[in-house]
Amino acid sequence: LGNKLQDILDRVGRESKLTGEQVKAAMREIRMALLEADVNYGVAKDFVARVSEKAVGQEVTGSLTAGQTVVKLVHDELIETLGGQAAQPTLKTDGNVWFMVGLQGAGKTTSAGKLAAFYKGKGRRVLLVAADTQRPAARDQLEVLSKQVGVPVLKVQDGETPQGTRRRLDEYLKTDYRDLVIVDTAGRLQIDEALMDQLAALQAELVPTETLLVVDAMTGQEALNVARTFDERVHLSGLIMTKMDGDARGGAALSARSVTGKPIYFAGTSEKLNGLEPFYPDRVAGRILGMGDVLGLIERAQQADLKAMEVKKPGDFDLEDLLTQLRQIRKMGPLGDLLKLIPGMSRALPEGFNVDEGQIQRIDAMISSMTVKERHNPKIIDGRRRKRIAAGSGHTVQDINRLLKMHEQMKDMMKMFQRLGGQGGKGLPGG
Ligand code: GDP
Ligand code: MG
Repeated sequence: LGNKLQDILDRVGRESKLTGEQVKAAMREIRMALLEADVNYGVAKDFVARVSEKAVGQEVTGSLTAGQTVVKLVHDELIETLGGQAAQPTLKTDGNVWFMVGLQGAGKTTSAGKLAAFYKGKGRRVLLVAADTQRPAARDQLEVLSKQVGVPVLKVQDGETPQGTRRRLDEYLKTDYRDLVIVDTAGRLQIDEALMDQLAALQAELVPTETLLVVDAMTGQEALNVARTFDERVHLSGLIMTKMDGDARGGAALSARSVTGKPIYFAGTSEKLNGLEPFYPDRVAGRILGMGDVLGLIERAQQADLKAMEVKKPGDFDLEDLLTQLRQIRKMGPLGDLLKLIPGMSRALPEGFNVDEGQIQRIDAMISSMTVKERHNPKIIDGRRRKRIAAGSGHTVQDINRLLKMHEQMKDMMKMFQRLGGQGGKGLPGG
């Protein structure tokens, strides 16, 4: 969305309130971005309708442009839809039984192992139950994982009834105390009635405290149906999104979450046992919109008082403005990070602008050694003045030359952005 975002920014201009037309134009792009991220069509449509309602008439405030305001609204709504904060499954002191369900290959067995490792690390006494009798190798797979983690495994036997499994589990727990029992179940490639019946029967016996649907993030559009059907048949309490390390954009997460309303507890981030992280809605929201951490930039721009950064006209951008901007940018955090946040920014900036903290300080020192007249009209800075400024700031004349050249380049860049129909001098140079 990098370029698209720029388009939106350019198109919606700088009104003080968002108009219906602006919102409509922006929402077309947002809907496209959602579909590209594999969000289910219906979910994307509802989402856009919801944000549009909030956006029209919204004030464009502070240092944000109209486009940034829209994007921020979208981002906030995405985070909200994805669950707001990172959530954790309920964990009582005792008697926790977690049921892992999902399609074949979603990552149930792997996630069961990861959860066992994670909660063992938190001091829990975990028991894994291998209840996938569909494929013989499935129970062995869990057994291998259990050995790696260092927790026991109880294997369901061929032909065992759900009642039989319940009895054997009760027996086991009498001799070996466990406060968290994680049950790995069978999956099929497609949703399958017979399988759902089996799952429901085992669930009725084991009475899990959490029923976790494991969803492959690469599932895309299909995630909606999968999540809906499992929720109808076995009443999910939460979700785990696996394979978030792949190139899936996270649309499946939005779909699954929207249709079930259940929290997404974890994200699987590798095949390894430690590849499990809390699910962070804000990160995934950014990923769905495909704009890196642009929103992080917008937030930080909001925090820093950027009023001072507003420049009159690009042509009037003088050294005083540059100094003000540098100081503002410094307040916002490491410059390198900041620049990386802006799509295309690293390419757009003149050479020499991607400077480190030390360099910013040196530029600050050089400009500080100039008279106000020199800052406003750098053209008057001749050889003698350059020498004086260099000496005064502890730099060489070459350093001063480089600074003046950089300033010229920035001015050109800003003029160019304005010609391209951008937002004039508002915001970051060239942003
Ligand atoms: P199940 O059929 O639902 O039990 O799925 P498995 O746990 O057997 O996983 C299927 C495949 O997906 C295996 O090759 C796993 O290693 C892989 N897998 C599971 N979770 C992740 C993940 O978060 N990231 C990656 N890259 N691979 C995963
Ligand atoms: Mg499995």
